[in-house]
Amino acid sequence: MIRRESLMRPHAVLLEKARSLPAGKAVSWWWAPFRDALFPPRCLICGVFHDSRPDPDQVRGTDAMDDSRLFKTPFADGMAHVLGSFACPVCMPEFIPIASPLCPVCGVMFPGGQGPDHLCPACDKTVRAFGKARALGAYEQGWMKAVHRLKYDGKIQLGRPLGLLLFSAFCRIWETDPVDRIIPVPLNRRRLKERGFNQAWLLVRDWPRYSRKTGRPDFEYRISDDVLVRTRWERSQTGLGKKERAAGIRDAFAVKSPAKVKGERILLVDDVHTTGATAEACATALTRAGARQVDVLTLARTL
Ligand SMILES: [Zn+2]
Ligand SMILES: [Zn+2]
Repeated sequence: MIRRESLMRPHAVLLEKARSLPAGKAVSWWWAPFRDALFPPRCLICGVFHDSRPDPDQVRGTDAMDDSRLFKTPFADGMAHVLGSFACPVCMPEFIPIASPLCPVCGVMFPGGQGPDHLCPACDKTVRAFGKARALGAYEQGWMKAVHRLKYDGKIQLGRPLGLLLFSAFCRIWETDPVDRIIPVPLNRRRLKERGFNQAWLLVRDWPRYSRKTGRPDFEYRISDDVLVRTRWERSQTGLGKKERAAGIRDAFAVKSPAKVKGERILLVDDVHTTGATAEACATALTRAGARQVDVLTLARTL
């Protein structure tokens, strides 16, 4: 059978195609080639302009955030989809995910990639103040660069896609383990003033919207950035060893309204889990104030 399109002139084919699309899609379909020529996508990780968009049909930039496919497709596909909204094809493979086998408490990934999850030597020896800590990726290469772009280079637009990835990890990992309150790990006032934003808050601020999108009524948590406060100014933790970090940060947090967290299951959210000293200090303060359980979710963790 001869396709009707083949008998039409090129401009008529284009018009026909545009008419068949919903109004919003038709505009972006027309606009896409001009947009790509005028404003080629730029990788937010390495800064190069490239000609690869993750989904030439509709996905671009932060529009990917409004696409609910992350929750409809296998996680790995959804993750690639969101990573592709800000990273170029060269940077994308540098985002190494954390996968089993891992320690069920601190979430450290065991090398080799075989066998069941099991306690790491540190968690076997010590009782942690938090219940479980999980991270999305390994704190090196892609994830490290993404965190640095967000935190130190002021690329706060990364907060949305990274926050969406974190939210989808939360949905998977805490699916049968609901939490009452989400607390982004606070910065002290001096650091907040210097940086101008708290990266942990940027990562969770859109979660209520994503929760509504998933249609999950059991995700009825509150997000609070005023319950836990950082009371002391610690010098930069970068380059410090495990013991020095723990000593520097111990008692650095206080719970402002203990009544709010009493009996609650809390999820702490932060950008990076390195030695776990911050998680430990926050969880200790919250449990002392009466929290029933404190878990931790970060974008990345050290291997
Ligand atoms: Zn790149
Ligand atoms: Zn462990």
